[in-house]
Amino acid sequence: MHFMKRVLIGVAWPYANGPIHIGQVGGCYLPPDIFRKYNKMKGREVLMVSGSDQHGTPITVQAEKEGMSPGELAEKYHTINKKAIEDLGVEFDLFTYTMHPRHKEVAQDIFKTLYDKEHIYMDVMEIFHCSHCTRFLPDRYVTGTCPRCGAEDVKGDQCDECGLLLDPQDLHGPKCMICGSEPELRESEHFFLRLSGFQKKLEDYLEDKDFWKSNVLNFTRGWLKEGLKDRPISRDMKWGIPVPIDGYQDKKIYVWFEAVIGYYSTSIQWGERNQRDWREFWKDPDCRHYYFLGKDNIPFHTIIWPAILMGYDEELNLPYNVPGNQYMKFQGKQFSTSRGLVVSLPDVLEMFDADAVRYYVSSVMPELRDTNFSWEDMVDKNNSELVGNLGNFIHRVLSFTFQNFGEVPIPGEMDEMDRSVLDFIEMTVEKVSDCLEECRFKDGLRSILELSREGNRYFNDRAPWVEVKKDRDRCGTTLNVSLRIVKALSVIATPYLPNSMDELSGYLGLDSDWHNRTWDQALEPLHEGTHLEEPKPLYKHMDMDELFPEKRVLSSLKQLDLRVGKIMDVKDHPDADKLYLFTVDLGDEKRTLVAGLKPYYDKEELMGKKGVVVANLEPAKLRGIESQGMILAAENEGTVSLVISHGEPGTNIKGTQRGAGMISFKDFLKYELVVGEGADGTVKAGGTYETVGGDVRAQSLVAYLQDEKAFVLEDDTGPVYPHKPVPPGSKVR
Ligand SMILES: [Zn+2]
Ligand SMILES: [Zn+2]
Repeated sequence: MHFMKRVLIGVAWPYANGPIHIGQVGGCYLPPDIFRKYNKMKGREVLMVSGSDQHGTPITVQAEKEGMSPGELAEKYHTINKKAIEDLGVEFDLFTYTMHPRHKEVAQDIFKTLYDKEHIYMDVMEIFHCSHCTRFLPDRYVTGTCPRCGAEDVKGDQCDECGLLLDPQDLHGPKCMICGSEPELRESEHFFLRLSGFQKKLEDYLEDKDFWKSNVLNFTRGWLKEGLKDRPISRDMKWGIPVPIDGYQDKKIYVWFEAVIGYYSTSIQWGERNQRDWREFWKDPDCRHYYFLGKDNIPFHTIIWPAILMGYDEELNLPYNVPGNQYMKFQGKQFSTSRGLVVSLPDVLEMFDADAVRYYVSSVMPELRDTNFSWEDMVDKNNSELVGNLGNFIHRVLSFTFQNFGEVPIPGEMDEMDRSVLDFIEMTVEKVSDCLEECRFKDGLRSILELSREGNRYFNDRAPWVEVKKDRDRCGTTLNVSLRIVKALSVIATPYLPNSMDELSGYLGLDSDWHNRTWDQALEPLHEGTHLEEPKPLYKHMDMDELFPEKRVLSSLKQLDLRVGKIMDVKDHPDADKLYLFTVDLGDEKRTLVAGLKPYYDKEELMGKKGVVVANLEPAKLRGIESQGMILAAENEGTVSLVISHGEPGTNIKGTQRGAGMISFKDFLKYELVVGEGADGTVKAGGTYETVGGDVRAQSLVAYLQDEKAFVLEDDTGPVYPHKPVPPGSKVR
């Protein structure tokens, strides 16, 4: 293997226009931190840099929304995000910001140098201009429909939904973001990066990059294959770094051209602050450069940034690897700060320990394809893997040894089973190391869990609780071997779970600061006789009901199968005065229902109406005819009203579950369904209930009450509601 002495890690610059969300953590903040910690433990010098991206239209657009200046907004979110990143245990050697004067100076120097070398030139181009607002509309000041995926209200620089990079002119139905009117194209002078001039050089650069991840490599090759086009890198804006060319200082440098320069300017700042020579990281060919980012940023790091570096100074190191990730989505959709679909990092860290977050995010990192973040999955993985596997193994070994020996026992003679465990440790340490060298973080974590699973198996097979009574020496050997697994875990899991591995090292009588831990220590046995500390469990069990009480309402609704049913036919029951026989269309099946609606509705009134059917009610004979379910109605002192829906027949009411097990009528009556009125996030239904789901803008609705909370029943079209007016609080069954 190539001996690497130094590593530079560049991490994509987060826009300071909102708190960092959990999707970004999985996409580009946690992976570089794991990589950095690993490299440190391997004894390499590491410089990891990034900072807040404080320029560009994302900042000015949000600043207008929050009623503050772009500078104030950028300061605000820089502070919030820097703290959240630190709280997660992510350590930068320098996390700065693009408003920093040193960055401005370096960015302008690079722009000017490229201009002097004719890698940048001036030309006239057409830009959207709003005659109503009398201003040019750069990037995000234009919105429209994405030409690729059809998403609406897409911003003019990029589609959040599918990741397509855009020029505002590409949008269908472009509108001025400020006033909504249709903009027109006007000519304006701008500066262009002559990317076409770097075509050959970039092709050569890519030649030996076969080891890149396929998504990154294919994306980059695609751009090169199409032929590189020169790109405008100035904007008509007030906010940003002025173009350093006489007569054009009113124009600003395009935020993406300028932000990538931050890797370089921050390294210089780091050198100045620490009296170190930053050139060791930029001009020594033995220093490898890794860049971590989400897929939307790939071309800026594999095409534009290398071109800037090549044009500026031939001696500078180019990106060695760009392990760009896909998207981590939430409920199948792309997280988006501007669309309010956000699980923010500060919020998540208020609810959970940093290592629990790091664990879950590591296990669903979008390394090769888009992945999904969900609370249910997080709770599930935390309980079954982190607590149930890793935490459980470590704790049972530590507590059993502490109670019975109080120190690291002396191993006796090892047998086949012991030796195969020691081999397994060695193999795992090597495997995890290989994974981390290649930035395959999910595979690394999986191998770590396999080791603790193996440990659990060994511990069970040996049954030291039996051995300790029969053969104390043999028990000592078992515990010594088990502790060697624990020791190895405390080292190889450190890049992922630094806080809990620090705590664990303390229990083992070792240095509890990971900065003093080295990778090679994974295979060093603990010193016999080392005094052990009384251990506490490293991880906490999570309880979905406690964390998300509103989902508890949903989870009990899952035992109901409520579907939209269309009444296709109404007949009189041959043997009963008050009963009708309905034929109801449930989408993929038709059912016969017997309902007591005859005194309240004419047949014609009911024909064709869509109602809500309890589809998993045990069939019951009513006066000799079997009813295969029940249609919901509200009743109040002599009035009975069908509950109406506008959805497609067969659609499930949200929160209920198609194919739920059969329930008896008696069980169904335990569900408190009532008519209500919606107002300000509450439902009035006799009393006033806090709403934990559903749209409450409807005046009349049906709510499910549980634990003094209300969940509004709705289908895709909105809440279901009583057909005739009945007072709030009326029962529905
Ligand atoms: Zn799109
Ligand atoms: Zn306008």
